[in-house]
Amino acid sequence: MIEKIDLGNLDYEELNKLILSWNEKSFRGKQIYEWIHKKLVSNIDDFSNISKELREKLKEETHLTKLEKHTVLHSKKDKTNKYLFQLEDGNIIESVWMKYDYGNSVCISSQVGCRMGCKFCASTIGGLKRNLTAFEMLSEIYEIQKDTGERVSNVVIMGTGEPLDNFDEIVKFIKMLSDEHGLNISTRNITLSTCGIVPNIIRLADLKLPITFALSLHGTTQEKRKKVLPVANKYHLPEVIDACRYYSDTTGRRVSLEYSLIDGKNDTKEDADELIKIAKKIKAHINLIPVNPIEERDFKKPDKTKIEKFKNELEKNGINVTIRKERGSDINGACGQLRLGAMKERYT
Ligand code: SAH
Repeated sequence: MIEKIDLGNLDYEELNKLILSWNEKSFRGKQIYEWIHKKLVSNIDDFSNISKELREKLKEETHLTKLEKHTVLHSKKDKTNKYLFQLEDGNIIESVWMKYDYGNSVCISSQVGCRMGCKFCASTIGGLKRNLTAFEMLSEIYEIQKDTGERVSNVVIMGTGEPLDNFDEIVKFIKMLSDEHGLNISTRNITLSTCGIVPNIIRLADLKLPITFALSLHGTTQEKRKKVLPVANKYHLPEVIDACRYYSDTTGRRVSLEYSLIDGKNDTKEDADELIKIAKKIKAHINLIPVNPIEERDFKKPDKTKIEKFKNELEKNGINVTIRKERGSDINGACGQLRLGAMKERYT
């Protein structure tokens, strides 16, 4: 069987090229792209300004992937929804919608599972199943925008998966998401977070997409980082820091460092001092994330006073720092927990 063309995964240029190769008028490509990526219509039969003939040809030669809404949970504490989507191959992924004063933010998954093995993260339990395509990632946002009826203004690539382990599709996703013929979300409102795959940080920097870049640091020395992030065995702290500096020099964008605070592991005054040095070196913003304990792992959140003390220490030294507010904790808000729950239900 000849595989059908993955229609939603064609970017604007690729789609126009395909439509022209079928001897159709050039504006048809634009119309079809807008049905999929602006009007967010997932049924080819509903492309009402496209002739029946062309719709039939589209259905014959191509396939428009759909995500099925599997579960939606609404937090009673804050304006946060958690979504589980079922992919066409039966796999399940998780996305989160958060309403803020400045707009609506969606946290997307970039892979089904993850192979990075970070010690406190629920998303990596069960390993990597497969990469998501650019259109599957876009569809997480499209389906949420349709479900809430509200425009999504910000996207964070901080759900399940390591985006720089799915490089080509992530770059395509960012380009399509910010395309004026689609949702046209400003690249500045897109944040990518990585555990530190150095060669791909450099590749990303060289593309000069002005997105917000965040590094998961979590430990201030090579030894400490290795204990929580297995990827640190491959890419050592000094080269990761250099790659971050290269990123901000090349793109002119300030880098964020994410630092999960784990009780008794990385929350001492010495840790704060080291963190200050690193932040100063690359002029980074620090985002503290009190660790979300997961059942499978033995990590605890430091108490409130310890967290405040750590933050004050950084601020006293002129570091720009925020504490990530916990959202949706009543609906399994922490990374990968909902999906993990659904997988357990299915397989046990
Ligand atoms: N793979 C990417 C993006 C996904 S995780 C990365 O590593 O950056 C997004 C952020 O949440 C990362 O900083 C990650 O380390 C952090 N995180 C994952 N599980 C967590 C938990 N249980 N508690 C606190 N932070 C967590």
